[in-house]
Amino acid sequence: MPEITHLLTGFHVNTDQGNLGLCTIALLRGRTNILVDVGHQGRANQLAAALERANVPREDIHGVVLTHAHWDHCQNTDMFPNAKIMIHPKELEYARDPKRPDLATARYFLNTLEGRDVEKVVEGAEIEPGVRILETPGHTKGHISVLVDTPEGQVAISGDALPWANSVVTGQPMIIFWDEKEAAESVRKLLSSSRIFYPGHDRAFRLGEGNAVEYFSGDDSLRIMLSHDGVGDMTLRVAPDGTMAPTVIG
Ligand SMILES: [Zn+2]
Repeated sequence: MPEITHLLTGFHVNTDQGNLGLCTIALLRGRTNILVDVGHQGRANQLAAALERANVPREDIHGVVLTHAHWDHCQNTDMFPNAKIMIHPKELEYARDPKRPDLATARYFLNTLEGRDVEKVVEGAEIEPGVRILETPGHTKGHISVLVDTPEGQVAISGDALPWANSVVTGQPMIIFWDEKEAAESVRKLLSSSRIFYPGHDRAFRLGEGNAVEYFSGDDSLRIMLSHDGVGDMTLRVAPDGTMAPTVIG
């Protein structure tokens, strides 16, 4: 069975000056090494360090699954020259002409795939023993999730189709760029496929009795460095209800 390593935690932190775009990045180690999402360039150093801690050289990443083509999930494919890039054919189509006002899908995304080994993956594709693709459109046209067999049952790495624990309550992703009905259907599909989630912008959680959310993996804080001498640095901590609570560190 493939082993899941939580390389980088997803957060939902926005500011009035722009989005930090911190998505979940997971490593699957089976017969091959596969990454689900690779994040944006601002996280390249953190991703490289996390792989080093996991003892996996970048050259040994054989595959990258992109849940969708939003900038915060897909920019670092060039860090993995030996990886084939797996994406849904409809997402490639969508990236050619993203639905307005989806400014998170950049047209240059398709250029980043030039010269790469791109594999179009659809529902049910087994990309590694015990790892399958689940179509979860709505957030974007060709969004996919990844289902992983583990000793604890089927785990869903759900990207922005189910980006945070709150989606379990609302039945919707955080933002819908493509289609509301499809987005709601995708949340239902994910909830009927799994009780354990690595969501796109939240810590990993499992659902207990009465769908109680139990977080089990991921960082619960992030530090904002405002200067080089540490003055005014700030730590944002995730409160038990999933919101971010600021703690100013002197
Ligand atoms: Zn997205």
